[in-house]
Amino acid sequence: MIHQHLKKFKTISATKEGITRLGLSEWEDKAHAAAAAVFSRSRRVKNIRDQAGNTFLVNGDGPGPYVVMGSHLDTVPNGGWLDGALGVAAALAAMQKVLRKHRNAPVAVAIWADEEGYRFGNGLWGSRAFAGKVSEQELLLRDWEGTLLAELLAELGLQKKPRRSRETGELVTKFAYKPPIEVAVYAEAHIEQGRQLIDAGKRVGLVTHVSGIRRWRLESMGETNHAGTTPMRERRDALVPIAGMVGRLPQLVRGVTNGVITCGAMGVEPGVANVIPNQAWAIVEHRAPTDRDQDEIARRLKELVATTGPRAPGVGLEMLPIASAPPTPMSEAVTSRFEEICHKAGVESMRMVSMAAHDVMSVAQVAPAGLFFIPSIKGVSHRPDEDSRGEDIKLAGDIMHRWALAELERVL
Ligand SMILES: [Zn+2]
Repeated sequence: MIHQHLKKFKTISATKEGITRLGLSEWEDKAHAAAAAVFSRSRRVKNIRDQAGNTFLVNGDGPGPYVVMGSHLDTVPNGGWLDGALGVAAALAAMQKVLRKHRNAPVAVAIWADEEGYRFGNGLWGSRAFAGKVSEQELLLRDWEGTLLAELLAELGLQKKPRRSRETGELVTKFAYKPPIEVAVYAEAHIEQGRQLIDAGKRVGLVTHVSGIRRWRLESMGETNHAGTTPMRERRDALVPIAGMVGRLPQLVRGVTNGVITCGAMGVEPGVANVIPNQAWAIVEHRAPTDRDQDEIARRLKELVATTGPRAPGVGLEMLPIASAPPTPMSEAVTSRFEEICHKAGVESMRMVSMAAHDVMSVAQVAPAGLFFIPSIKGVSHRPDEDSRGEDIKLAGDIMHRWALAELERVL
């Protein structure tokens, strides 16, 4: 069953190369509809769309609480076929199997909208809305075409149109959201997207923590001038301190277990070959499994900024926080249940930290939640050749099914 669902999702893509199914797009909608179609003949399973674009397939009428399984169906451009889709397919297959024996079981599948946050740069959109973690400010984000997130949500019929204040002329947005169901407990299956499992020769990764992410904008201000006629000592080149720092970033995570740091975006103004830059910026993000480690990396980064800035006279260097997600521990009860299921099935598992963010981080704010991984072939993801072995994909569905049964035993 799980393979069947995955094959269907694979055909839903805006392009032929890889899978392109951006969040909050008609392609994501089509995938949600394909998932809902699995239960279209059931009278009991309700298809609920919430005000953030999430889809819930709920076996019952009331608000719950429910045993919930889920993931997302959006991808990055030219992404792979398993990131997110695996978790949704495993959840669908598990729920189908559960309902065959227990018609009235309080189970639900959650399909979170726009997990990747590709278009507006804000990840975990739908699951954060569910957990009450979306701010009105966020609706003012714009994509590369200048479209406001608030406008897009109105276009999709999810939220009211933003209006302009008569007094100030500013846009006024309001995010209306009520979670449609209550979650008793939540589980998510995902591909690892790394190579810890293959390297260790294990088939299942039991996630104990999802690492925290902090993102900073480093901004440097100088002065433009002619690149030929301005002597070196008279320059106020904004790029020099930023460029010097980026080369030293890898040193900042030395000795921090599972600590990683990246500068993935940079810019320079005016960006002309014969003009000295008057402005330069870089986005730096770092991840680590504990707040203490994150504090230590941030301290080292601040120190680097403080010592790099003054070396370029007349150039200011600033470090501004732009996003922060704390490390999120998973529910020990859920993790040990996965562990027990693997043990009973004779499947080798290992406990590990997830260095990538997942919807389960949001759900963990409101209910006990857990996450497990299956191996990614070659450890690659977010590209067309992302893949996992057929038997591991099947295993994800089996673990989900057994987990749901075990949780329901406590509720039924
Ligand atoms: Zn994912």
